[in-house]
Amino acid sequence: MSCCAPCSAGAIKQLADGEIPNVDDFIVLFFNPNIFPAAEYDKRLAEQIRYCEQFGVKYAIGEYDHVAWRDAVRGMENEPERGARCSICFQFRFEYARRWATEHGYDAVTSVFGVSRHKSQSQVDDAGNNALGAQYIPIKWDEELRQQIGRASDFYRQNYCGCEFSMRPTRDKNNAEKQKIIPIR
Ligand code: SF4
Repeated sequence: MSCCAPCSAGAIKQLADGEIPNVDDFIVLFFNPNIFPAAEYDKRLAEQIRYCEQFGVKYAIGEYDHVAWRDAVRGMENEPERGARCSICFQFRFEYARRWATEHGYDAVTSVFGVSRHKSQSQVDDAGNNALGAQYIPIKWDEELRQQIGRASDFYRQNYCGCEFSMRPTRDKNNAEKQKIIPIR
């Protein structure tokens, strides 16, 4: 599972180069209904597709239903990044991956949700294990490779995790004001 092109860059190259043992076939699943607003989702999706196509790897796109995601994290809006809202957010996406993998004949799921320095890999792995059990494969991706590709690329780079609650107040104040965040009830 991928959240965006910059986080997945190294992992996709490692998988495409056959560096990860016991992987015969893989597909990049982009299921990120957490991303807000829709224009930001479109930008991240376009970058993900561009990067997959550059490597000739398969990709699939899950539904973008931000209202359903908001329902899932209701009551946790004020949690900090790495808090309870993020656990539910990861789990929500992993549960979708479990259903998707079963329907499409894939027997294991991994992710790049934990590669950002703002994320907790163990929190991601806990959510993966909860949602997928033995079908979840935690992988320690090559961080140096990811950074190397990032430096050499012209990726669109977001400055917040994805949801409206992760827009960092100092950097994203103007952004949030412009986007007029309206609570979904
Ligand atoms: S900060 Fe990121 S991981 Fe946490 S709830 Fe928001 S989008 Fe999900």
